[in-house]
Amino acid sequence: MDIVFKDVEHRYHTNTPFERRALYNMNLSIASGSYVAIIGHTGSGKSTLLQHLNGLLQPTNGTVHIGDQIITNAKKPKHLKPLRKKVGIVFQFPEHQLFEETVEKDICFGPVNFGIPEEQAKKMARELLPLVGLPEEVLTKSPFELSGGQMRRVAIAGVLAMEPEVIVLDEPTAGLDPQGRKEIMEMFYRLHQEKKLTTILVTHSMEDAAKYADEIVVMHRGTVVKTGTPKEIFREPNTLLEIGLDVPETILFQKKLEEKFGVTIDSPCLTMEE
Ligand code: ADP
Repeated sequence: MDIVFKDVEHRYHTNTPFERRALYNMNLSIASGSYVAIIGHTGSGKSTLLQHLNGLLQPTNGTVHIGDQIITNAKKPKHLKPLRKKVGIVFQFPEHQLFEETVEKDICFGPVNFGIPEEQAKKMARELLPLVGLPEEVLTKSPFELSGGQMRRVAIAGVLAMEPEVIVLDEPTAGLDPQGRKEIMEMFYRLHQEKKLTTILVTHSMEDAAKYADEIVVMHRGTVVKTGTPKEIFREPNTLLEIGLDVPETILFQKKLEEKFGVTIDSPCLTMEE
């Protein structure tokens, strides 16, 4: 399922004194099965962009193409319900949305709501546990008895239980310790590789963008200012520096080495520290 943004503009609170343009001139293509990282400052439009991916927001102007579905300003949100299954969004701190009495019920909530028989949903929940790194005994526990990291894994399992074709991750490791961050990022990478899941990662971490993504999209003040492979983006870090993003020292250092000694570093990203 390819994703294409064509001349998308999004304004909040149109025709009111609070009107605010959050996206403009957004043109972007995301190929089915790719892993794309979106980077940019707070307020650059990342969250507005990702809410267009499953119809939570509609463009004020322009079109968003998700597979064969076209989202415009005109389409009524109820027609977009099937998209909620195809595109799973892991919002920031997704564990805040847990609410059921047991982990099993929480994971099954989405599929059951979409008409999947309960037994089938339960089977899926059990199968998902090892994938997200949880033991089977958590199923009968209250999500609120678990640690923060485990709760996040339950919330992620709930998104995966919908068997999405595209998964959107909005800072999925925020608030986790380094080990937890690494485990979650590696888990999503495995899923991307094994299930050919199109993965869209919104992140502040240049390291994660460099390490996992095939393509990086740089957003600034409501539009895309640069796209490219990690190699292309970090070979010319000036755009990132000009808009005030923190480029890791390791990348800048390698870039300097390259300039000073003419050493061609095949991919500055591959040698970055863990
Ligand atoms: P990011 O995710 O990169 O931080 P956002 O998409 O949240 O960026 O915000 C883009 C712009 O839209 C910002 O100027 C922000 O203030 C504005 N904005 C975001 N959400 C709303 C909203 N619900 N109402 C009004 N303005 C908003």
